[in-house]
Amino acid sequence: MCGIFGYIGNREIVPVLIGGLKKLEYRGYDSAGICVSKNGTLQYIKKEGRISELEKEEGLKKISGSIGIAHTRWATHGKPNEKNSHPHLDCKKEIAIVHNGIIENYRVLKKLLTDEGHKILSETDSEIIVHLIEKFYEGDLEDALSKTLKLIEGAYGIAVLSSKEEKIIVAKKGSPLVIGVGEKEMFVASDISPIVEYTKKVIYLSDDEIGIISRGKYIIKNRDGKQIEKDLQEIKWSIESIEKANFKHFMLKESFEEPEVIKNTIRGRIKEGKIKLSINLDFKKIKRIILTACGTSWHSALIGKYLIEEYSKIPCEVDYASEFRYRNPLISEGDLIIAISQSGETADTLAAIKEAKERGAKTLGIVNVVGSTISREVDSGIYLHAGPETGVASTKAFVSQVIAILLFSIYLKQEKGEEIDKELLLEIENIPDKIEKVLFNSEKIKKIAEKFKDSKNFLYFGRGINFPVALEGALKLKEISYIHAEGYPAAEMKHGPIALIDKNMPVVFLATKSSISKKILSNIEEVYARKGKIISIVNEKDLEIEKFSEEVIVVPETLEELSPVVNVISLQLLAYHIANLRGFDVDKPRNLAKSVTVE
Ligand code: GLU
Repeated sequence: MCGIFGYIGNREIVPVLIGGLKKLEYRGYDSAGICVSKNGTLQYIKKEGRISELEKEEGLKKISGSIGIAHTRWATHGKPNEKNSHPHLDCKKEIAIVHNGIIENYRVLKKLLTDEGHKILSETDSEIIVHLIEKFYEGDLEDALSKTLKLIEGAYGIAVLSSKEEKIIVAKKGSPLVIGVGEKEMFVASDISPIVEYTKKVIYLSDDEIGIISRGKYIIKNRDGKQIEKDLQEIKWSIESIEKANFKHFMLKESFEEPEVIKNTIRGRIKEGKIKLSINLDFKKIKRIILTACGTSWHSALIGKYLIEEYSKIPCEVDYASEFRYRNPLISEGDLIIAISQSGETADTLAAIKEAKERGAKTLGIVNVVGSTISREVDSGIYLHAGPETGVASTKAFVSQVIAILLFSIYLKQEKGEEIDKELLLEIENIPDKIEKVLFNSEKIKKIAEKFKDSKNFLYFGRGINFPVALEGALKLKEISYIHAEGYPAAEMKHGPIALIDKNMPVVFLATKSSISKKILSNIEEVYARKGKIISIVNEKDLEIEKFSEEVIVVPETLEELSPVVNVISLQLLAYHIANLRGFDVDKPRNLAKSVTVE
């Protein structure tokens, strides 16, 4: 998920690798390392924390050579620490790898390798790759890697180095890799940012291809091992635009990553019509579930209540973490407290979990950052695998949280021995494509943003499982555009907020198909009658809704339980474009912090 960089040429390598890693820093990481091959030995160094810390290491001064690989890790399996950092080496310290992504079947492979006597030192999924290569190595690194790739399942970008061969071999599936082609030197990286200062000529590797790079030469092979010709591409982007992948802000980049993020969240967790989660809890003992969170995660929790009750039939409550810890909650042994937090460091949520544990409840964490405090505090957990989120306003972590809770809800049903709806599982896998279609609407949504950017207030209405989406849409707008916005269940409108509606009030309706679509239509009419300016999110051109709406955003239809993750995308984009048009620093809104580690 994070960064790979490799170099083979004639330059003294340490400054090249360190410089390259610095260019990859923007992707977010928790540790880093390099490995250099010289005179038949591998020299390596790894460090938890910043590249600047790695740079200060005495050991770095002793490393020299001109072939090497480097890595910034964003932990998915195993805490961020030195031992788990990449590169990983085989038992004989003759082969080294760096890996981005997730190896789904690493547990079985780890068992197999340990039984054969391999010493696996880290908690990562990645380390098994290098031991598999070691197992298959008979003097041909490429052949050993090909055999390894046949065994591993999941997503990877891999670079392999051996003390015995003057080359770097790379392979990819579902995780990006690009080769930079110089005069007498070659580069490989997760993106072009560490390459552009040396060469503008690159080759983008496709899934299942292998690249073999040596000084002045590169060979690309397809999945059958046949050499293929690939076009050299010319890079025209500036460094600044590369870091944000040509997006103006991280928030927009992260929104466009949402299809990929959902694939990562479900990767390896839906298999043969079943949900696979490694959760260590006795579900028979659970009588009640309490979801606790703050901010955007609290909205995921509200959606979670619908999902958990629907699938597991276990009563479920939602509490603000900050309130839970101070209201003397009634907790008993039959309670499961689920903490939801992107960073896993949210102080209020952490305190709520501690409170619940003291009172005898079981705890489960749904967090993004591996090894974070909440992930260590809970009895069991589900990682989001959403990758680092840099924009303060959460986008990709939110959709990933909802999908993780949905998987958990279905898992609870499965644990009760009940039949799982295969259609539902298939539809979860279709969601990335549907989100992609909403993202195509970005320019249209920008036009809507232009029209409403000077409004002083906004209302967001949704019903059922889309009521929390209305809250989330309003929160996004408040956070980054500083426009006052409120979200409500649409039927609540008549109990208060309707008094606010006049010709100056934009009202966003989540009006996609649901069991209560007709009721939403009546609410739309009520706003129309009071001259409110309606922006409707719908599934298809609906003449009736169009008649009342100032603007209509059409999004793909999905199952009602999945509609929040499709619907929220338009609201994230609307908030983004409004804030951007108003000229604000979208990624760092005033008064807000990404990870709220204080009370
Ligand atoms: N899954 C690997 C790990 O946890 C790689 C993570 C990454 O892509 O940085 O070490």
